[in-house]
Amino acid sequence: MAVAVLGGGVSGLAAAHYLHMGHAQTGRVVVVEATNRLGGWINTTTHSDGVVYEHGPRTLRVMGNAGANTLALAESLGLTDRVVAVPYSHPSARNRMILVGGKLHMLPNSLKTALKRTPPFSRPLALSALSDLKTKPVLNADESLFSFVRRRFGLEVAKYAIDPLARGVFAGNARDLSVMSLAKRLHQVEQKHGSVLLGLLKDRKNAEKPDSELAKSELVQKARKERWAVWSVEGGLEELVKTLERRNLEDGVEVRKNTKVKGIVHSGKKLVVQTDDEELEVEKVISCLPANSLSTVVKKMNPDLSRLLGSIPFVTVGVVNLEYTGHLVDKPAFGYLVPSSEPNRVLGVIFDTCTFPQGDRTIFTVMMGGYWFNSIFGDSPTEQDMLDAATYEIRQTLGITCDPDRYVVKILPDCIPQYIVGHLENVSNSRQLLRDHRLPLVLAGNSYDGVGMNDTIMSSKRAVYDYL
Ligand SMILES: Cc1cc2nc3c(=O)[nH]c(=O)nc-3n(C[C@H](O)[C@H](O)[C@H](O)COP(=O)(O)OP(=O)(O)OC[C@H]3O[C@@H](n4cnc5c(N)ncnc54)[C@H](O)[C@@H]3O)c2cc1C
Repeated sequence: MAVAVLGGGVSGLAAAHYLHMGHAQTGRVVVVEATNRLGGWINTTTHSDGVVYEHGPRTLRVMGNAGANTLALAESLGLTDRVVAVPYSHPSARNRMILVGGKLHMLPNSLKTALKRTPPFSRPLALSALSDLKTKPVLNADESLFSFVRRRFGLEVAKYAIDPLARGVFAGNARDLSVMSLAKRLHQVEQKHGSVLLGLLKDRKNAEKPDSELAKSELVQKARKERWAVWSVEGGLEELVKTLERRNLEDGVEVRKNTKVKGIVHSGKKLVVQTDDEELEVEKVISCLPANSLSTVVKKMNPDLSRLLGSIPFVTVGVVNLEYTGHLVDKPAFGYLVPSSEPNRVLGVIFDTCTFPQGDRTIFTVMMGGYWFNSIFGDSPTEQDMLDAATYEIRQTLGITCDPDRYVVKILPDCIPQYIVGHLENVSNSRQLLRDHRLPLVLAGNSYDGVGMNDTIMSSKRAVYDYL
């Protein structure tokens, strides 16, 4: 059986790898990638002196089945000795700040701090927890993350905890994003137990654990024993991509770079993938393209599917890495996030060298735009505009007035899909259309079942083992 994998981001590379590992009938596997490099948004710069910047993802979470799956994948790729881990006890895992009224505030991170009034909250967080215990559930409806959290925990928790979190993780607006898609477990325990906190407590045995096969991985066991929160790879996350690429090539996977997929045609039981150079006839296609791109590709073959996929919005993010000499951070932390209620152009600032020190350097990554990109920066901001906004932020908030020694500015167009209210239904309808039309096309990648790297790698595994 010949399989085409569309898109050479981490999900495409993982899909090709799992095809080789698990699918006995798979013969030919071809990965088709539009650009001249693999890895998609995973993008690391390594300077000649060894200093590393991440322009996209920087850490992977350990928690849950998907977290364990990526650790097991790293182990199977021979990366065990190159994994760099951050335990829960580390300041960058414990300390997260928000910027309110121009001041940085540490978010409560222990029972002791939850019992105290901690600005900008006007009452102890423990009291917000009590309001969850008293609030009746709203049954079965999807709603926004913001409205879910406001309903259960009060306006301040929505405004100062969930709103900045949504900006930091999804570059999105918590008032639009779907609780059923992005905080599935919280929604489920509310439905089952009537209260989120009580539900989490009662349901803790059912919290997602690694399945028995993954639990055998030495790296998964080590991560659990040493209580890792997140991890990366020495030299940056692009090393994971490069290793996957090498392994795929060794396994005989054909990789076509600089080859944009233009269309797909249904022909009998097969699909024909059209590019500028060739027509690739295959029995199955795994699409790891972003939904907006796949929407264009399937437009002629199935306009209804194209319309559903095209209704998933994407946002653009400006990412600026700034490097300074010396240790310039007073309070070691992951960094800080900025709620949307603040008159500020920045989504958040990551203190990279608090998580992974790099000699006597201080490196910040400033994230900007997202859902608000156009309203703040207009249609075509220059890299200088982004750099100015980033250095202004570091001066104003952190009081670092010297110029950075080095920097890199990237504008990442349409880089994060937005799972807005109704997303789950949209994805389920898209998959139903594929079944109704007997199209041997499987949807994977970060547009459907989770936006993080663990989710996207897991989506590829499921595409191969469950759906193909
Ligand atoms: C700024 C930023 C920070 C992030 N931080 C984190 C983090 O810390 N931790 C984490 O877990 N996740 C993070 N993420 C999310 C993570 O990067 C994504 O989940 C992951 O990279 C998605 O991989 P993918 O392969 O699904 O998609 P992509 O990376 O989008 O890959 C899709 C590929 O398809 C190609 N393509 C598109 N159209 C076509 C076409 N027509 N023909 C052929 N090829 C095509 C593209 O060129 C691309 O290579 C972050 C994302 C961003 C943008």
